Order: sequence, then structure tokens, then C-alpha cells
Amino acid sequence: MPNTQDATSGLRTTERPRRPVHPPEYYEEIKKRFAEERNLRLSYRPEGTAQYLTDLSGALARYETDPYGGEIIDRDPIDDAVEVLFIGGGFSALLTSARLREVGVESIRIVERGADVGGTWYWNRYPGVACDVVAYDYLPLLDEMNYVPTRHYARGDEILGHCQAIARRYDLYELAVFQTTVTSTTWNEAEQLWHVTTDRGDHMRATFVVCANGTLTKPKLARIAGMDTFTGHSFHTSRWDYAYTGGDLSKLSDKVVGIIGTGATAVQAIPDLGANARELYVFQRTPSSIDVRDDWETDPAWAAKLEPGWQSKRRAKALTEPPLTALQVETRANMTPEEKVRRQEMANIDYMMRIHRRIEELVDDPVTAEALKPWYMFMCKRPCFHNEYLPTFNRPNVHLVDTHGAGITEIRAGGPVFDGVEYKLDLLIYATGFEVQKTGTYNRIVGEGALDLQDKYRDGMRTVLGIHTHGYPNLFIMGGYQASFNFNLTDVLQAQGDHIAACIDHVRRNGYKTMDCTAEAEEWWVEQVIAHRGKTSRNHDCTPGYYNFEGEFNRRQDGNYNGGFPAYGAHMTDVRANFDVHFTFSNA
Ligand code: NDP
Repeated sequence: MPNTQDATSGLRTTERPRRPVHPPEYYEEIKKRFAEERNLRLSYRPEGTAQYLTDLSGALARYETDPYGGEIIDRDPIDDAVEVLFIGGGFSALLTSARLREVGVESIRIVERGADVGGTWYWNRYPGVACDVVAYDYLPLLDEMNYVPTRHYARGDEILGHCQAIARRYDLYELAVFQTTVTSTTWNEAEQLWHVTTDRGDHMRATFVVCANGTLTKPKLARIAGMDTFTGHSFHTSRWDYAYTGGDLSKLSDKVVGIIGTGATAVQAIPDLGANARELYVFQRTPSSIDVRDDWETDPAWAAKLEPGWQSKRRAKALTEPPLTALQVETRANMTPEEKVRRQEMANIDYMMRIHRRIEELVDDPVTAEALKPWYMFMCKRPCFHNEYLPTFNRPNVHLVDTHGAGITEIRAGGPVFDGVEYKLDLLIYATGFEVQKTGTYNRIVGEGALDLQDKYRDGMRTVLGIHTHGYPNLFIMGGYQASFNFNLTDVLQAQGDHIAACIDHVRRNGYKTMDCTAEAEEWWVEQVIAHRGKTSRNHDCTPGYYNFEGEFNRRQDGNYNGGFPAYGAHMTDVRANFDVHFTFSNA
């Protein structure tokens, strides 16, 4: 996950070391406080990622049930063969499919757990859902779709609509299978085909399989004693129960509502909850950093002037570093790597202190304002952007229950307990996030020699570009570890989609049947990943969260490639220019 300086590449405000504005002691004092707060949190949850429940079966299955798709449609099991099969129907599948159509691939099937395409944007329909990345960059294929987003920051329904429009435009509904979860993906060496089974009894075969199942796919719950004794209503934010809340949340006007978690999801949902619930209790363990959200409706005059190809030009420009001034070049040349890191830290602290001042300006009650201040380095947690979140705590019906790092550890029949107080609720909402980056979340992937991918990775991940892994021919992984991170995830997915389509095109055009990366290529890439990780102590110094594996030890190869997104793109280009060096091809 994004755990080095490189991870800030989408956020230009603090990207480059800047001149510090305070004496060194000022920064040291703040760093001391960051460390204290981090240690406090770690002391409450030494179990790391095991504090969460991700196996939502049995009585917990309802937290994962799809509230949007309606009845499961009865159908006969499918027994057929396609050329390309996508596991997952979000942006990964959609934008790769668009490129595959461009090179003439006709037989494309999406297998998707939800009842439609959209992935993240299918599942996350909580009130206030929107994307923090500028829509003109985030929404992919705007040139191809001839579409200009209606706002600077698109809302969830517009993004879901865009996903559906892509699926229609590229005829992806034709072979798609919804309400279906892939359970195993097994390489058949004799047939040189992947055999894919599902929870609906299907047995499909595919020449190419793309794991397009997303980075944050499976909802997770905090393991809290007594959760099952709660007698009120409850759900996870990614399975919003509008039947209970009402589409406009009006059914909450006589309800006491609680929400556990204050991450990016909660930050967007809380303003609407605060405006509609009779009472709202926000159970906070660690506050998010909340900056200004500079949103506006797209100016039709600006949109009308956009020339064909405007998005790809805009994207290319965004990925190019602005040139340094002569003074910057000289200053940098005279700085040691340690000085550069220190200066970046100071800039990040200045940013966080600005976030603190914003809280003081917007939150009336000084005790609440103090509790809402995040004490960790910028980018230790996902930064948030919202204009109504902080003022929501000025509402008389909204109460912050600050657990100061401890979190909620007990729930009784009436509701969560903290400091001996039981908060009696009608509705409890879990905004506790998602399992992180598990390739094939619901799925067992078995390659050559009957080797399970999980077993292959037991001593550390091994891939080329985070996409290919030796012994798993014609299998491609999107959005996983060992790939680059970018604040705009669709940039990464588009680069990977373009790459995968080019690989499949290369196999087809040359009359090959399979491609597999070599063990040497894999070793090269693992070394690249290792070389670029752990350059700073940031991962270790950060407050726990999913970005740093909740403070757990993590092998250097089991994370993102942190050489920067432009370098990642350059490596992809180079790999494609030297296919025969990095891959073996068969035409048997
Ligand atoms: P997160 O994992 O970011 O947040 C989970 C929250 O639950 C944290 O605040 C965590 O506290 C809290 N928590 C967990 N256990 C307990 C407990 N026992 N008691 C109290 N609090 C608890 O999940 P989100 O769904 O908010 O966000 C996931 C990601 O999805 C984001 O990081 C972002 O990448 C993406 N996203 C993007 C959006 C956007 O573009 N605007 C909007 C929404 C999501 P603690 O911090 O202490 O661990």
C-alpha cells in the first residue's frame, strides 16, 4: 500500500520538499506526539490485522448480502468456453475490455458477484458517496465515450452510470454473468485453458483470465465482543439498507443512529446522517485529516471547447513532473537523501498543522475540535476532503464519542459501550472498511503443477509488474501489490489494461496459444520492488491502519512498487518492447 513518499504523487501540495517554516525543535515535538499516539493505538490492538473479521459467513453473512440486486435470478449452470474471462466487473474489467475490443477480441465474459457492472461503485451507494479524485481524470475512457463529467468531483451514481455506459458501448453485457462468485480458477495443462467454477455450479473455460476483482472488495467488520447481541438494526456501509433508512434518509428522523469508524467512507456519510437522524453518535478511534473539497458543476462553455483526445492529453500532462527551477535543481543537488526526507517530513507536518487550524475554525466546541485533530504524518492514512463533515459536529443532535485510540470493544443489546456507558441505538452502521488487496478474494487460483497461488506466495509475492506470475500462463492480475500506486487508481488500471490488451493481442497476432513470464523476469521485478521499498521508516512510524498493515511486520516484496508511476509505465513499455526476453510463448 502507499507507504512511502512516492505515494503522494497524486497530491501535488506536499509532493516536493519545501523550505520549513519553523525551527527544527517544533517539528521534533510534533513527531514525538505522532509517535506517542501511534504507540497508544498499537497498545490497544497488538493483534494487527486479526482485529478484523473478513469471513462473513454464517450469522454474519447478512453483512455481505447484496441489498441492491433484488432476487437472485434462477438460471442453469453454464458450461462453455470464452476467450477472455474477467473475474470482477469494475473499472479494471471495463477499461481493459474496451482495449480488447479495439484489437478485435470478440469473446469477452465478465463474471461478477453483484447484479451489474461497477465494482466499488456498484457496492458503495451510501449517502454522500463521491470520488475524491477530479472526475475529468478519474472517470476512464472519456475520450472514447465522448463524455464530460457533470461535476469536478463526480458522485457515486454518475460514476456507476458511466460504468454501465461503457459496458453497453462495448457490448459487455452480452456474455456477462452477474450474481455469480468465482470459486476456483485452475489451469488445465493438457488443454492449455483455464477452468473456472462458480458458486452457481458453472464450469467455464477461458483462454485468458484477468483477475479484476479490485483492491478493497470484501467488507470487513471489527471483532467486537457482543456484536451478535445487539437487538437494533445494523449494516456495513457498502451494503446500505435504504429500505430501513429511506432513500432520502427521512426514515431516520425518529431514530438514534451510531456509526463505527471515521475513515473516508464515514466522512462522506456522516454529514447526511447528521442532517437526518434524530440523534447521531460517531464512535471514533482515529480521526481522518479533512481538507477543503473544491467542487463545482462543470461549466458547459468549458466542456463545449474540449477537443477530441482532451482526456488522454490531460492525463499525460498530469503524469509529467513540472520542470524544476534552476534554484530548485541546485538546492536538491546539495541535499543528502536524509535531508530530502527530513524536509519532506517538515512539509507534511506543516500540512497537518494547517488541517488542525481548519478544525479549530470550523468546530465550535473546543473539546470536540481537539478530539477531531489527527496526530500522524500526512498520508499515514487516506487524506479526506469534505466541506460539511467538520461543521456537522456543531449540530446539537450529533455527538462525537472519542475513544482516543481504544475503539469500541464491546457491544450490548442496546448498543456500543465506551467508558462504562452503553449508547442505546436503533441503528448501528459499520464504516469499518474492507479487506485489502487479496487477489482472488473469493477464489482459489491453481496454476501449473497444481500450485495454489497462495502457496506460491507463501514466502513472498512474485510477479512481473504486479500483473504476471510465473507458472500461471495467460493469467493477468490487476490492481494488486507489486504494481505502482497512484492517488488516481484508474491511471494505474488504465496502464495495466492497455498492457494486458497488448499482451493478448501479441499472443493472438503471432498465432501463439499461451504466454508465461519467465522465472528470471519475475526475479528482476521482485528485486525492483524490494529496491524501492523501505527507503524511509515511514511505514514503521505511521499510526496503524490498512496503509501499513495495521503496524504488522511486512516483507519488503509484499507491497506496492514504489519507484513512482512514470517509472512503472516506462517498465511496462520496455517489457512490451522485449516480449521475448521476459516471456515464453507456446503455440502447441
Ligand atoms: P477505512 O479502513 O479507511 O476505515 C475504517 C474505520 O473504522 C477507521 O476509522 C478505523 O479506525 C475504524 N474502526 C475499526 N475498528 C474500530 C473499532 N473497533 N472502533 C472504532 N472504530 C473502528 O475504511 P473506509 O471504508 O472508510 O475507506 C476505505 C478506502 O476506500 C479509503 O481509504 C479510500 O481509499 C476508499 N474510499 C474513497 C473515497 C473517496 O474517494 N472519497 C470514499 C470512501 C472510501 P482506525 O483509523 O483507528 O483504524
